[in-house]
This record gives sequence, C-alpha cells and structure tokens, in this order.
Amino acid sequence: MSGPKIIVALDYPTESEALNLVDQLDSKLCRLKVGKEMFTHLGPSFVEKIQNKGFDVFLDLKYHDIPNTVAKACGAAADLGVWMLNVHASGGRRMMEAAANVVANHQNRPLLIGVTVLTSMSQQDLNELGVTNTPAEQALNLATLAQESGLHGVVCSAQEAPLMRNNLTKDFLLVSPGIRPAGSKADDQRRIMTPLDAINAGSNYLVIGRPITKSDKPIDTLRTINSEIS
Ligand code: C5P
Repeated sequence: MSGPKIIVALDYPTESEALNLVDQLDSKLCRLKVGKEMFTHLGPSFVEKIQNKGFDVFLDLKYHDIPNTVAKACGAAADLGVWMLNVHASGGRRMMEAAANVVANHQNRPLLIGVTVLTSMSQQDLNELGVTNTPAEQALNLATLAQESGLHGVVCSAQEAPLMRNNLTKDFLLVSPGIRPAGSKADDQRRIMTPLDAINAGSNYLVIGRPITKSDKPIDTLRTINSEIS
C-alpha cells in the first residue's frame, strides 16, 4: 500500500466550489472522495476532471442491488478509472462476489470496499430491521463476509478498527471517517479520533472532510495531518 493515506471528502453542492478546493490541494498529499450528492449533480465528467488533475478518486456510491446490477455498476466505475469504490456488504455474499469478480478482471483493478453498518444506525434501528446483534457484532459479521467474498476492505470507524484488526487478516483495508485533528470542531460527528490515533488503531485510510475543506489554508492543514501520521 503506497501513496497518500488521507482521502478528502468533497461534499459540495457545486462544481466550482469543489474545484476551488481541489485546486488548492496536492495529489501527492491526498486522494479525493466523491459521493452521491456530487455524483448525482455532476456525473462522471466531474470524476474525470479531477482524475485529470492527477487525483485518485474514491467513488462513494455504496452500491446495493441484485448481483448482476451491482457487478455492472462496479464495471462502469472501473471503466471510469476510479481508484476505490464501495458496495453495501448487507447485499450479501453473491452480490459481493459478483462485484469482486468484475473488479479483479478489470484492467484498472480498483479497490473494492464494503460498507458494514452505517454509523447512523442505532441498536433500535437494527432491531427494527430484525437484526438482534449489536452494531459492532453486525459490523464484524458483515466485514468477515466481505473478506470471504473477495473485497479488499471495509469502511469502519477508527473506534472499530482494533476489533476488525483482531479478527480479519492484516492486509484487509480499513477506511475510516469520523477523523478530527486535535483541537478541531467535531461538527455532527459523534465518535471521533485524531488522525494519529486512527492510524495507530489500525485504519489504513482516513476520510476527512470539513477539517480540511473548511480550513482557511486547506493545504497547510493537509500537510500538518500528513506529517502527524507519517
Ligand atoms: O466533514 P467530515 O470529516 O465529517 O466528513 C466525513 C465524510 O465521511 C463525509 O463525506 C461523510 O458522509 C462520510 N462518512 C462518515 N461516516 C460514515 C461514512 C461516511 O462521516 N460512517
């Protein structure tokens, strides 16, 4: 695993605002995450635009559908040249295997990551879905299934990283949001960790939004975080 560990979350309503930030960043220091809002507004051409500026893109569309549909969508994302993409692990083994198969046979071979239990889900939310496991148990079950199905890793909070590290193989990637450098605002995040603590807990990649995107000097913040974790 090489290259930047920080993935900057581009959560903007317009292309001009997003590009204004991107043009202040450096592709040697970070990668970029494009999610549902930006992709729905701006589509693949925006992804191509930032890739042409040299950035690796994590396409965070969390596919979840029947195996054939998800496999086709993953193929389309791989055609687009993204570095990382994700699917909901709760789509099940056959869905994940179909996705992993397409990705493994594609010339771009992007990293395929599973989403386990959304951090917005409480125990009560799981119970209402008929799931009696705790969120942590369910996250580990789904991560184990994701690994068995051929995915490269999962999204998990850095708080869950030790549990994942202790139960899954060393090379399984952990991609963690909810990161806040010491002294920065928590915003709406509840269970936060500093970049260094997250890396020490076992996270491989850190998804960081507002501490960088709302910084007066995004590139300086990015440099500071990189030097903290290197
Ligand atoms: O601004 P902030 O650092 O909180 O942004 C974190 C990014 O990670 C956002 O794009 C958010 O949607 C995403 N995310 C998250 N928690 C998850 C999954 C994704 O914060 N469990």
